[in-house]
Amino acid sequence: MTEELDPFKISQKQLYGACKISGCSSEVYNVLSEPERFVEVKIIMKMDDGSLKVFKGFRSQYNSARGPMKGGIRWHPDESASLVKALSAWMTWKCACVDIPLGGAKGGIIINPKGMSNRELEMLARNYIRQLADFIGPNIDVPAPDVYTNPQIMAWMMDEYEKIMRKHVPSVITGKPLPLGGSAGRLIATAKGGSFCIREAAKDIGLNLNGAKVVIQGFGNAGSWASKILTQDFNCKVIAVSDSKGGIYNKNGLDPNRVIDQKEKTSTVLGVKDTQEITNEELLELECDILIPAALENVITKKNAKNINCKILAELANGPTTPSGDEILSNNGVLIIPDFLCNAGGVTVSYLEMVQGYYQYFWSEEEVIATLDRTMTKAYHETVEKAKEYNTHNRLGAYIIAVDRVINAMKLRGWI
Ligand code: GLU
Repeated sequence: MTEELDPFKISQKQLYGACKISGCSSEVYNVLSEPERFVEVKIIMKMDDGSLKVFKGFRSQYNSARGPMKGGIRWHPDESASLVKALSAWMTWKCACVDIPLGGAKGGIIINPKGMSNRELEMLARNYIRQLADFIGPNIDVPAPDVYTNPQIMAWMMDEYEKIMRKHVPSVITGKPLPLGGSAGRLIATAKGGSFCIREAAKDIGLNLNGAKVVIQGFGNAGSWASKILTQDFNCKVIAVSDSKGGIYNKNGLDPNRVIDQKEKTSTVLGVKDTQEITNEELLELECDILIPAALENVITKKNAKNINCKILAELANGPTTPSGDEILSNNGVLIIPDFLCNAGGVTVSYLEMVQGYYQYFWSEEEVIATLDRTMTKAYHETVEKAKEYNTHNRLGAYIIAVDRVINAMKLRGWI
C-alpha cells in the first residue's frame, strides 16, 4: 500500500489516534477535525518586468477556543490548501501543548519568492494583508513568519494593516523587527526552544551533549540558529547540515559561523572548505546522536525511517515525520521530540511579543529566554509524563495534552 502523504490527512489521522486513546467521542473528533474558517484569496501582482501575475493565497483558522488564533505565513511553491490546514491544526496543538492562551491558524501563498525584488516582495505582503484584513486582528488571528517570510515582511504587513485601520495595531503581527515592537529573542526562539527540549531529552537518556554528534536538515532560520546554539551552549559537534540544494559533511565537525557566512554570500551551504557534499537523503541517514529535521514536512517516511540512525529526533520542522515513520522510529527506540513541542519556541516568544506590545514595555533578551526556558522545559516533561501514563510515544503524549486542553476550553464555552 502506498503511504499517505497528504499533510492534512496525516494531521487528521494523528488527531484521531489521540481522540481514540484518550476516549473522546467521534462527535468531538468531528468538531476538531476541520478548521473553523478557511479563506482563499487571489493576489494580483504587477511584476517589475511589466508582466501581470496572479497568485493564490490562504489563511486557515483552525480553532479559537483558547484565544486569538496564531500562526505563520509561508511563501512557498509547494504551498497548498491541504498543507495550510494541517499547519493550522498543528499550531492549535502547539499553543495548547505549551499552554499559551492562543488558538491555531496558518497562512500561505503559492509562490517562489527566491529572486523576487524587494519591491515585488513588499507588494506581495501588502496585497495579501489587504485581502485578509477583515479576518485578522490582535483579538482574532495574529500572523507571524514561517518558511521564506521574515521580520521585514512582517513590518510591511503590519504597516498595511495599520493603514487600513488608520491607527497603530502592532499586535496584529508578531516576528516584527525590534524597532517596530518586535521581541528580543524572537529570531533565535524556535532553535533556542528546541535546544531546551534537547537538553532535557539528553538528561533523560543519559546522553552527554559535550561532543554529541548533531545532523541538521534545513538551514533556514531554525536550522542555522540550531547549529550555532547547540555548538555554543552545549559544545555539541554539528557534523552535517543541508539546504534545498544539498548537504555538507565533516566527521570532525563544522564551524556554524563559517557555514552561515557561506549561506549568506552564496545562498547555499554547499562549498564550505573541508566538507564533503552529500544529498539530503544521505544526510538523514547519517549515524549521529541528534537528528534535527528543520525544513519541510514528510522527510522521514516508511521508506527511510528504518535507516535513521540517531538517539534523539528533534523536530524543528512542522510535520517532518509521517505516522508510519513514527511507528518505525518508536519501535527502534528513538526518542522523538515531536514537532509541535520541539518547535514551539517561536510561537511562545511571539506570545511574549504580543504581551509586551499590549503593555508597551519591553523585556531584555535574558528575561525573554528565561521565560521561554521555563515554558519549554515544563511542556517537555508534561509530554514525557503523559506518554508514560498512556504507555505510548511522545507525539501521542503531546497530542493527548493539547487536545484535552482544547476540548476543555470548548466545553467551558458551551460549544460541545
Ligand atoms: N511559523 C512559526 C511556527 O510554525 C511561528 C508561528 C508564530 O509565531 O505565530 O510555529
